[in-house]
Amino acid sequence: MSASPVRVAIVGGGIGGLAAAAFLHRAGIPSVVYEQAPELREVGAGLVLAPNAVRLLRRLGAMDRLTEHAVPLEVGWEFRRWEDGRVLSAEDLVGACERLYGERTYTVHRADLLDAISSAVPSGAVRLGRRCTSVTVRADRAVVAFADGTSAEADVVIGADGVHSTVRGAVTTPTPATSSGICAFRALVPAEHAPAFARRRAQTLWLGPDHHLVHYPIRGGAVVNLVAIAPAGDGTAESWSATATVAEFLAEFADWDPRLRELIQAAGTPGRWALLDRRPLERWSHGPLTLLGDAAHPMFPFFAQGAAQSIEDAAVLARCIAQDPQAPVDALRRYESLRIARTARLQEVSHARAHVNHLPDGPEQEARDAALADADPLVANGWIYAYDAEAEVSAASV
Ligand SMILES: Cc1cc2nc3c(=O)[nH]c(=O)nc-3n(C[C@H](O)[C@H](O)[C@H](O)COP(=O)(O)OP(=O)(O)OC[C@H]3O[C@@H](n4cnc5c(N)ncnc54)[C@H](O)[C@@H]3O)c2cc1C
Repeated sequence: MSASPVRVAIVGGGIGGLAAAAFLHRAGIPSVVYEQAPELREVGAGLVLAPNAVRLLRRLGAMDRLTEHAVPLEVGWEFRRWEDGRVLSAEDLVGACERLYGERTYTVHRADLLDAISSAVPSGAVRLGRRCTSVTVRADRAVVAFADGTSAEADVVIGADGVHSTVRGAVTTPTPATSSGICAFRALVPAEHAPAFARRRAQTLWLGPDHHLVHYPIRGGAVVNLVAIAPAGDGTAESWSATATVAEFLAEFADWDPRLRELIQAAGTPGRWALLDRRPLERWSHGPLTLLGDAAHPMFPFFAQGAAQSIEDAAVLARCIAQDPQAPVDALRRYESLRIARTARLQEVSHARAHVNHLPDGPEQEARDAALADADPLVANGWIYAYDAEAEVSAASV
């Protein structure tokens, strides 16, 4: 570390922001995380952690903390047909995943993941109740202003403030989000109310016309995470607090395999999140400012890589800054050039999956099902799972 360390301010204490603070700390660089929430509450639901994220979390020591709660999946991407549950394809996540990628795939509750990453961040590095309202660049440093009237100066500002990022407005002029016409119903079902097929250690996806439905266990198997994609109708709120009713949820899946009714009926008050469409950004950095996670590359959840990509960003950004703490603006350029192509590709393939997952019955759907039966997604997605973000920085520096 340099004698006068670079001052890093991170706006947003979600998965990406906390991971950035943890990787920077590991590299000997202090940072301060400014989070708008006044307290750390249990928000969110389930997430899949694929090997590309797990190997990074393990280096932080966060997997030790997660062991009690994370569910090691035995079956992944188990695609089933909507009307009768016929299995179209499934991944072996017990033997093959570890053999190919050196790590298993886990499911977690977002709150447990945040807790595990926080354990790798020094106490006192997170300031709660600090909502960023603007960021101003002055020469080679930046000033972050907060809603409570305070401000902070830093040599680097990382905008990890999620899909509705404030920092993004100071970095680039993004094209406005457009309606995708689809929404996600979300629920956490206590395992004792869930049918046996949903309690298996499997990530299951039911595919049907204009809809698909995903479920997997989290919290050591105590809870089943349920997410279903359907036409958006009047639901336009892109928010984790917007809700729907079980009746609305059931109506979307009325003709589907009757076993799904039992699961949906246990959904309590489902959340309803409108998915908005955003094109990949061409740049993430402006002078001492950069973006990370959903602020940089919001993506549809169909490859389950939103959280993983924010963790990869954090690992790469910390390495780039640590390599040259005296020239942080150059480090941000390097970070951006290492990350944009990969995350843009994931944004594009996640987007394309909406069409493929929702095909009406017919020749195109039959061709899709045949392709699913032939291809092993664990191998086909090797470009995602085999990726070691930290090794990529080292390789690019040679
Ligand atoms: C509440 C919540 C619940 C989620 N639940 C799920 C889920 O169940 N399943 C799933 O697949 N994905 C979920 N996601 C999305 C998923 O977590 C993201 O794809 C992934 O975490 C990307 O991480 P991120 O750090 O970029 O953004 P986020 O995890 O969205 O974190 C952004 C953080 O920035 C803070 N913030 C925003 N604006 C400001 C501001 N102006 N000033 C200061 N702080 C600010 C937010 O409070 C938040 O803590 C959730 C996101 C949120 C915010």
